[in-house]
Amino acid sequence: MRPAEAHTARLSGWGRFPRLDCRVLSPDGPDAALAAIAHEPSLIAFGNGRAYGDAALNPEATLAMAACAGIEAFDPATGRLTCRAGTMLADLIAAFVPRGWFPPVTPGTRFVTVGGMIAADVHGKNHHHAGTFGAHVAWLDLALADGRVLRCAADENAEIFGATCGGMGLTGVILRAAFTMIPIETRMIRQETRRAPGLAAVMDQFEATPDWPYSVAWIDCLSRGAALGRSVLSLGAHATTAEAPAAPPARARARRMRFDLPGFALNRWSVRAFNALYYRAGRPGTALVDLEPFFYPLDAILEWNRIYGRSGLFQYQCVLPLEASRAGLATLLDRIAASGAGSFLSVLKRFGNAPGRCPGLLSFPMEGYTLALDFRATEANLRLATELDAIVADHAGRLYLAKDARMHPNMLRCYPGLERFRAVRHAIDPAGKFASAQSRRLGL
Ligand SMILES: Cc1cc2nc3c(=O)[nH]c(=O)nc-3n(C[C@H](O)[C@H](O)[C@H](O)COP(=O)(O)OP(=O)(O)OC[C@H]3O[C@@H](n4cnc5c(N)ncnc54)[C@H](O)[C@@H]3O)c2cc1C
Repeated sequence: MRPAEAHTARLSGWGRFPRLDCRVLSPDGPDAALAAIAHEPSLIAFGNGRAYGDAALNPEATLAMAACAGIEAFDPATGRLTCRAGTMLADLIAAFVPRGWFPPVTPGTRFVTVGGMIAADVHGKNHHHAGTFGAHVAWLDLALADGRVLRCAADENAEIFGATCGGMGLTGVILRAAFTMIPIETRMIRQETRRAPGLAAVMDQFEATPDWPYSVAWIDCLSRGAALGRSVLSLGAHATTAEAPAAPPARARARRMRFDLPGFALNRWSVRAFNALYYRAGRPGTALVDLEPFFYPLDAILEWNRIYGRSGLFQYQCVLPLEASRAGLATLLDRIAASGAGSFLSVLKRFGNAPGRCPGLLSFPMEGYTLALDFRATEANLRLATELDAIVADHAGRLYLAKDARMHPNMLRCYPGLERFRAVRHAIDPAGKFASAQSRRLGL
């Protein structure tokens, strides 16, 4: 098999920061991917570029997995699905929701690949019930640096499995995986919306609603004083056929952001005005909503990242342990509100602690609260992020690698599995064939 043809392209993650010229190889299937791995001295897999920063970029060789896609098997008796790693979650949802199946865990966009979901060990609004995506992976086939393809699972090559779930593509290239879908009766979500006037109130509400399978809060990151952390909490559960109307409502078509907004369009006044409106619009009550706007509200505007202008954006996502969350979040939010720099896409989520629900050595979640905010990629905001890092580290929290474009390597110390991860990786890839701009920046 000849290695795939290469071309050079300027690539970025979803944040469009940084942008790097990369040699791109686009294998048309697993055999061509294996040939490229054998041929290239240094490379990294690229799923659909929804990690925000430089995790999927390698200037020497970036292996675009889009064509290594397709469903290989599905067992309707168990929900067990086997597919190639480049398969897009959006395609699985389109094919399986009408048949009554839904992914066990989904991130906030459906434009991700299965390989990318495993490599970041993604979490969803149901982390407190279901853990991370990796917890539902029965096995995966991993192409190693030495040319072997190894089947890995929680009970087969377990250490490599643990280093691969959340390992950001640094153990090898995932070629295919099997995981278990969950049955659903309808495509509707029974949603309850609650307002919380401040941080303590929204955290109390998270603690009081553990039975809801899905929960997430939008948080106003610019309000201060008694209104610090005021939020709109959204709770959800898959609606049964008894609860949902027979005919699902028509779904809106996605719109596209066709140009970059000028940098000045997003400022503390526009964000403050948006936040005030959003808070008021979040009317308490219950409703039946389609699962697409519930899980993927941002997917309704394709290329919404252009709202942040040509300089791009970075997302700051941290998690703080439960006992440190109240004090730590208040300090973080106060600092962000004082800067006036926060965005309107600020999200708070409670992570759970179900044992075995987070299989990766570098998996991001821990029991506690995760806060995610988008910032325009400016010098001032990058300096602010460094200040936030100190607060996160002081509270024994950590940052999410899938969102990172700028953290200092010191922040990796907050990952207890880091040394074990390095040892496993060194054992299977001593020359460090699998490397990304992120892994080099962080010395991972
Ligand atoms: C709007 C939005 C909302 C999001 N919401 C969430 C959320 O709620 N929860 C959450 O956890 N994440 C969330 N994310 C992050 C996203 O789910 C992850 O970054 C995911 O990894 C992206 O998948 P991808 O296929 O685009 O991978 P890419 O971004 O292309 O790559 C991400 C990492 O996966 C590796 N990788 C990709 N394919 C393979 C493969 N076949 N083999 C080995 N490694 C591979 C890459 O090398 C890279 O390190 C969100 C992102 C966006 C843009």
